[in-house]
Amino acid sequence: MQPTTRPTVVVATGNPGKLTEMQGYLADLAWELVLKPDEIDVAETGSTFLENARLKASTVAKAMGQWAIADDSGLSVAALNGAPGLYSARYGNSDPDRIDRLLRELGDTPNRQAVFSCAIALARPDGTLALETEGQCPGEITLAPRGNGGFGYDPIFYVPTVGKTFAELSGEEKDRISHRGVAFAQLLPELRSLSIAPA
Ligand code: IMP
Repeated sequence: MQPTTRPTVVVATGNPGKLTEMQGYLADLAWELVLKPDEIDVAETGSTFLENARLKASTVAKAMGQWAIADDSGLSVAALNGAPGLYSARYGNSDPDRIDRLLRELGDTPNRQAVFSCAIALARPDGTLALETEGQCPGEITLAPRGNGGFGYDPIFYVPTVGKTFAELSGEEKDRISHRGVAFAQLLPELRSLSIAPA
């Protein structure tokens, strides 16, 4: 029997956790997802989540001569003028640090509105962009952490439509409503209709 060749797509991140997460969302597609090599470093200099996702996908695709997919995500809090936003990952040294800082800066401000955003971009081997999308999940910042699941800011992000914080949801529940789940759901039909030639 002929071996089937699965197209290789590079996940433009050095984070193995992100590779596993992408493998989950893209399980239906017959793609071989691989991590980018450490030598290719992309500075996240964009001024939006989408610009950073495009930059990462495009730079890695061109450097490797292969299809590449990238995402960029974060939490924007209205009363903090959109902070931590693009700096969500760099807002503190650990998840508890970042949560403490956000709660401290927000204090008892009555406006607790916030939104999680996730941008995804897919680039061709020559670095041009083939597809992109952005998913959002609106919510509110709690006064104190709640729940033990998830990661990052999950314990302080409350979603009124389900009456729980992200950290109180099961993995499947979070995937259904989260910014990342929404973004991948939007992208999947387009990804399926895209013909990616084996590299
Ligand atoms: P990046 O997309 O890997 O650059 O990470 C963005 C940062 O935003 C993460 O390190 C988290 O702090 C935060 N973040 C993004 N998505 C989520 C989420 O689903 N829950 C909690 N925090 C998140």
